[in-house]
Amino acid sequence: LIKLEGINKYFDKHHVLKDISLEIEEGDFMTFLGPSGCGKTTTLRILAGLEHQEEGLIVISDKLVADGQAQFFAPPAERHLNLVFQNYALWPHMTVFENVSFGLEGRKRNKKEIRERVESSLEKLQILAYKDRYPSELSGGQQQRVAIARAIVTEPKILLLDEPLSNLDAKLRVEMRAELKRLHHELRTTMIYVTHDQVEAMTMSTKIAVFSEGRILQVDKPIQLYQYPAHLTVAEFVGNPA
Ligand code: ATP
Repeated sequence: LIKLEGINKYFDKHHVLKDISLEIEEGDFMTFLGPSGCGKTTTLRILAGLEHQEEGLIVISDKLVADGQAQFFAPPAERHLNLVFQNYALWPHMTVFENVSFGLEGRKRNKKEIRERVESSLEKLQILAYKDRYPSELSGGQQQRVAIARAIVTEPKILLLDEPLSNLDAKLRVEMRAELKRLHHELRTTMIYVTHDQVEAMTMSTKIAVFSEGRILQVDKPIQLYQYPAHLTVAEFVGNPA
């Protein structure tokens, strides 16, 4: 479904992504795991088209969407994906319903269809009861659910999640992990998830790409990474220390 090939990215002289190549299959829950500053977020932003690479290709659904050398970059809207960030900016003056429906407007749909789709995605996140509330009347966890509902309402093929749980307390984080896993199962959307939390990565993902200093060290199923780390850094980070 997604192919990254030879992605190199510089911020001024700082070489932040070094030959990133990766394939993501339809239905994967792929996690980018690694310590702070290793390039996970930048890779995600490049995939989304919010940042441009100097070198490398991106193919989504068999269509070339970016070519660094040729300076060709398809806009984010043409990449069949949607994003949820850590600081899930909801509109404070809009209700939950309005926040979620906002993404559907301008897409030539009638009111009834919009209502049905918004309510269905609120239901999937179990927040339909809060649809007339304003963000300030919700807990952090509920706000994060609204942000995710807003991202899935357009039924993107690919959902990108950048540390969406990092602002939540430990108990809510565990709860939301299960929720995201359920959602992945239910929607069958391909998900790409960024975190520095090993437990989060190990419990949710079908595959993990371990990042270190702008490179991908290993891509594998969680159990494989744990049992057969291909690299000392991977072993230290997720592997079996024995
Ligand atoms: P974190 O988990 O802290 O977000 P990360 O693994 O996602 O870390 P990135 O945010 O991708 O890492 O950053 C990779 C490197 O690129 C870092 O050294 C960072 O300082 C640098 N960087 C990121 N964005 C910019 C920018 N807009 N301008 C300059 N340098 C940047």
